[in-house]
Amino acid sequence: MPSAGSTRWLEIAVASHPEAVEAVSEILDRVGYNGIAIDVPLDDGRPHVVKAYLVNDRTARQKVRRVKEWIGRLRAFGLGPVGEVELRRIADEDWLESWKAQFAPIRVGPFFVRPSWSDARDEGIPLVLDPGMAFGTGLHPTTRQCLDAVGALVLDGRSVLDVGTGSGILAIAAARRGARPVVAVDNDPLAVRAAIDNAQRNDVRVDVREGSAGDVAGAFDVVLANLVADVIVRIAPELRARVRGTLVCSGIVEGKAAAVERALADQGLRVTDRGRTDGWVRLTLR
Ligand code: SAH
Repeated sequence: MPSAGSTRWLEIAVASHPEAVEAVSEILDRVGYNGIAIDVPLDDGRPHVVKAYLVNDRTARQKVRRVKEWIGRLRAFGLGPVGEVELRRIADEDWLESWKAQFAPIRVGPFFVRPSWSDARDEGIPLVLDPGMAFGTGLHPTTRQCLDAVGALVLDGRSVLDVGTGSGILAIAAARRGARPVVAVDNDPLAVRAAIDNAQRNDVRVDVREGSAGDVAGAFDVVLANLVADVIVRIAPELRARVRGTLVCSGIVEGKAAAVERALADQGLRVTDRGRTDGWVRLTLR
């Protein structure tokens, strides 16, 4: 943990075309303190901005140089337009605020997602979250796509497995809509911690475990998997084994949707619905 007080933070921000967000996020995640943030534009067609925060110490300059190098290579691959690496120095107090500013209350489908530090109200089903730096604040388009699906499926009394739960947002939303039991897994212990805290905050029962689809026994009426395309393809057999009803997959960039569909078709799953937002694809399969 960096010490509080005089520490200054460095914000690295890179504007990216939706196609490149995944790759840019992966790069910034290598240097960022506790992950990255993605600003999703309200108008379609404008670039996303991927941000990482790092402690502005002796190692910062070298990390920034590496990021510039990696981003340069991405550009060389022509992976959608990627902007310059923008740097901004921020004081501790502002860092906390700038992080919080990423996450404003938002209505998604039947849900009203708000951060734990906001007291905004709305008639939607409340989901109160403290992202604790784990991905899944309801702002990312893939999270929104999945929340929409969770809002539309019949879940009362159905069992749900959320693979890659992050902040726990989808599992909590499913529990709020009457799903039970709800099991959530993530291979990142930080996410497991955040999901447990968030489930408590929302007073719902979610069985959160460290691991992946292969570590869970049995089959579920609904399986949610907001993971990147490559991971979905890799764990397709494990996902298949867990689903006895509907599988909702997201986190898939448009260019990889066909490969994901093929991998899941090999497992006997057929697409019944498809959603597209900002270059991201959601597949619903049975
Ligand atoms: N479900 C949340 C978070 C999605 S981000 C939402 O919709 O907003 C993807 C999450 O999957 C991350 O928390 C990451 O740690 C986790 N993850 C990545 N690969 C995984 C795997 N193979 N098994 C389990 N979790 C994985």
